[in-house]
Amino acid sequence: MADTLFVKIINREIPADIVYEDDQCLAFRDINPQAPVHVLVVPKTPIAKLSDAVDGDAPMLGHLLLVAGRVASELGYGQNFRLVVNNGADAGQSVFHLHVHVLAGRRLGWPPG
Ligand code: AMP
Repeated sequence: MADTLFVKIINREIPADIVYEDDQCLAFRDINPQAPVHVLVVPKTPIAKLSDAVDGDAPMLGHLLLVAGRVASELGYGQNFRLVVNNGADAGQSVFHLHVHVLAGRRLGWPPG
């Protein structure tokens, strides 16, 4: 996969407000936040989108969810947050490097737009 915008953030070639990092993933604040807390959790080994994942990606995918929940908790919203994965352009995906949106800090409507 060619270097995505998020690979450039992982490699510190583009600045970001990083809130968490480990060997498998990076979490940083969205540049265009849709809620008081809006963080993206991104795997360091990129796949373009969730529908490209294979069975072997299961540990990484589980890790992203656990980290997303922990990030919400560390930012003060451990009991009230929403996770979003946009898969494909028609579903709103604009960066083709899998990421989990963590949204919190306001009442979130349903259904989403
Ligand atoms: P999606 O539309 O689901 O692919 O989400 C991509 C997200 O990346 C959007 O919410 C953008 O606001 C966010 N984004 C784009 N560029 C940056 C950046 N340089 N730093 C942080 N977030 C970004």
